[in-house]
Amino acid sequence: MPDRQELNEIIIKGICTSPGICIGKAYIVDREGVDVIKRYRIPKSSLQNETNRFKAAVKQAKDELHQIIAETQEGLRQHSDILETHAVLLEDKMLFGRTIETIEKELINAEWALKKVVATVKAMFQDISDPYLRDRSLDIVHVSDRIMSYLTGANSVNISNIDKRVILVANDLSPAQTSQINLERIKGFVTARGGVTSHTSIIARTLGIPAVQGIVHATRRIHNDDIIIVDGSAGTVIINPLDQTLIIYGERQTKFESYRASIARTSHQPAVTTDGVHIKIMGNIEQPEQVVSVIDNGGEGIGLYRTEFQYLSRPDFPDENELFDKYRDVVEVMPSKPITIRTLDINGDKALQNRMATEINPALGLRAIRYCLKRPEIFKTQLRAILRASVFGKVRILFPMISTYDELIASRALLNDAMESLEKEGVEFDKAIEVGVMIEVPSLAIIADIIAKDVDFFSIGTNDLIQYSMAVDRANKEVAYLYNPLHPAILRMLKYVSDVAKDQGVKLFMCGEMAGDPFNLPLLLSLEMDELSMNPQSIPVAKTVIRSLSAEDTKRLMKKVFKLTQAKDISEMIQKHYGDVISKAVFPE
Ligand code: PEP
Ligand code: MG
Repeated sequence: MPDRQELNEIIIKGICTSPGICIGKAYIVDREGVDVIKRYRIPKSSLQNETNRFKAAVKQAKDELHQIIAETQEGLRQHSDILETHAVLLEDKMLFGRTIETIEKELINAEWALKKVVATVKAMFQDISDPYLRDRSLDIVHVSDRIMSYLTGANSVNISNIDKRVILVANDLSPAQTSQINLERIKGFVTARGGVTSHTSIIARTLGIPAVQGIVHATRRIHNDDIIIVDGSAGTVIINPLDQTLIIYGERQTKFESYRASIARTSHQPAVTTDGVHIKIMGNIEQPEQVVSVIDNGGEGIGLYRTEFQYLSRPDFPDENELFDKYRDVVEVMPSKPITIRTLDINGDKALQNRMATEINPALGLRAIRYCLKRPEIFKTQLRAILRASVFGKVRILFPMISTYDELIASRALLNDAMESLEKEGVEFDKAIEVGVMIEVPSLAIIADIIAKDVDFFSIGTNDLIQYSMAVDRANKEVAYLYNPLHPAILRMLKYVSDVAKDQGVKLFMCGEMAGDPFNLPLLLSLEMDELSMNPQSIPVAKTVIRSLSAEDTKRLMKKVFKLTQAKDISEMIQKHYGDVISKAVFPE
């Protein structure tokens, strides 16, 4: 093994997704799938072995599929049809027969033969004009991926089983994987995929671990046990750092951590501007135990409890009592503070484990409220659990991804059903529970005036509002340059929703990541938001920034900002007026 000082120090720039610095050994979690598949020749004597290896992988894939089908719950049976189709495809002549033929004829390894056959089949399907048939080529790809993962043994590592202090390096981490991170072992992570508002990076910020994403070919450029530095504030990864670099970053890490600890101590005071405006700063959580972090960082309640993580990484659905326990756990810790429980926002990038047919456009598919309205029994179970927890404190209900007035009416009707069923059983709940909607689909922002009378509050979810308004996948680094909360289109929408909220007496909150970025705070103050909710680690900085701003002053400046036509000019104007105040609060180096 070469001496570390003989290796070249390599600095790679990515996207800063969670601030802070960590230094440690790399631990590669997954590889870049089909890309890394190599072609090699098989001696005739090993042909039988090679075809048997392929058949064994097909059998494993088939067994896995049958197990998933058997575990699919009654209400989801229709989705298991697609899996049945996949099981049949596994034995299809086109895929199975041709791959064996290719191995035998060309004397090549099974992975390469499979890859070649799939490429030919895909090309064949793509020339077909019928969109249904054309889409079937996707099924072939999924089936072959399943076989390939058994052939290459590339099933990803189970993160919760990692037993040393490391920095994860992955092509991609799913939100479900990220939520298994054990803080005592995982110092930070680096991925190729992902952006500032991908759920994976949101979880990293909540956990308070540094993360850099958008590092192209991360798992090829970094090897297991390489020493790496992850600077999540600058968005850089340094591979094989020189001793001098290690010393510099070690010092920065210590300074960063002690500054953050010092502002966390003053964070229990409210965020009041220099001219006396109090804006409540709340915390976003994904797991009940994170409520402690919100309290430690001075959060004044929970502005967003993402409840979907109780449904991920498991083959079944949680029952009412299990959910009730999780909600009560949070409410009881903060009984006098608002706890905003968002109903299930499943799918999109938070797919139920093996239980949904793969959607071509998951972000535009059967996600969140759409899923819940199609599965009223699952939705009502959750609503009853939330209502039961409401007697222990100040619970609010928040519906995600509503895009039409009809969906709001339907959701409220199911909430009424849940209330009536509890009443009949003599179970107590808060009858005056506040109900709000996420404003995260542009159609809803535009009809904010229509729905205002039916809600107590709006909570603006900028992560999706920007994704859907700008037509930019929030996890795709290739188009991350378009993902800008300061785009005039977004600002106009925010202004409109804020005007409607004031006119109609609806409370206005924001819980998207835009609220947690200190750079946006002058703008959000000018819009007279009642509450901003963010990952707990961002609360102390946000409060520090707000305490040094005047609300009147932000309003004066924003009048000028709203006349600008380009995001870069808007950004420059904010930087010119507030840049110093903000950088001082983030990290006064
Ligand atoms: C949002 O879309 O801004 C939001 C807060 O919800 P999520 O990030 O869970 O989609
Ligand atoms: Mg959202």
